[in-house]
Amino acid sequence: MKPDLPPPTLRLRIDREALAANWRALDRLSGAASAGAAVKADAYGLGVDNVVPVLREAGVEHFFVAHWSEVPALLPHVEPARIAVLHGPLSDEDARFARETGMRPVLNSLLQARLWSEAGGGPCHLMVDTGINRLGLPPAELADPLIAALQIDTLMSHLASADEDVAQNGAQLALFEQVARAVPARRRSLANSAGIALGERYAFDLTRPGLALYGGVPRAELAGVIRQVAYPQAAVLQLRDLAPGDCVGYGATWTAGHPLRAATVSLGYADGFLRCWSGRGVLGHGEAVLPLIGRVSMDLVVVDASAAPDLREGDWLDLPYSLPEAAAASDLSQYELLTLLGKRFRRTA
Ligand SMILES: *Cc1c(COP(=O)(O)O)cnc(C)c1O
Repeated sequence: MKPDLPPPTLRLRIDREALAANWRALDRLSGAASAGAAVKADAYGLGVDNVVPVLREAGVEHFFVAHWSEVPALLPHVEPARIAVLHGPLSDEDARFARETGMRPVLNSLLQARLWSEAGGGPCHLMVDTGINRLGLPPAELADPLIAALQIDTLMSHLASADEDVAQNGAQLALFEQVARAVPARRRSLANSAGIALGERYAFDLTRPGLALYGGVPRAELAGVIRQVAYPQAAVLQLRDLAPGDCVGYGATWTAGHPLRAATVSLGYADGFLRCWSGRGVLGHGEAVLPLIGRVSMDLVVVDASAAPDLREGDWLDLPYSLPEAAAASDLSQYELLTLLGKRFRRTA
């Protein structure tokens, strides 16, 4: 008989209500367009199995992943034709996999268009580059006969700077409008989370929010609209009393100036709580704020627990995961904060 695994010392609660409410808000802000969902990178680190059923139930019809390897996790929840693979096919195996599973590749280049046609073709999406110069067909190549032969479901492009107020947004919009007039497709799609906040002109037929679904706030317009979804917590493993002169952690970078109670917490950079939090991060216990002391190590951090005199070993502490503030405090992006959260967190929805 195998004994049950004891409970973990890291947990990540996913607020399903907030997730569904965020999608509804983004769908509403998309006007006449409908909002899909970017669920690449295991739903931005929150777990496809926790996120996708909630979104499906809320009404999401189109899901976006980056890699072919991300497809199997989605298949129990989503019909293949509703899954778009952003990186597109790079080999005949990729194209055959898409054909056999019935999912839709996003074609980004003439090579990918050729691979798709040679594998037998069928409905696909086309990503056109309008200025991010990353993935996507350059508009100058749109006249190629390979493109005219495609059965395009969604014609897409991707905004480079939608989280900022810069002329590039309008320029990409104008170019995409021009491309959309020239290329027949069932649907058109331009906006990510920040793009939705730029207004309905950017929404076309389908929007592709990711970050904001999960509580990220890429533009001020979304503050107060988007709710926090991810609530990570770590357990206190040990409490100790420090005397003046005691040092904490690797490199002895922090020294106690007065007597205090310190808590050692089951959380480290291997869990995605990176060393950039050293000296400036805080963990929470109810209303109490417990500053990190010493360096973040692989599996542990130490906090000054003076503000929480009732703290006990085994108690849970909150990570600072209100994303806009956490990003400002850490210099990590809101995207990084989510996707960094490691495998040792037990995710519950
Ligand atoms: C990741 C991604 C999105 C989602 O972007 P967010 O900024 O997270 O909303 C949309 N479209 C494409 C092509 C992407 O790669």
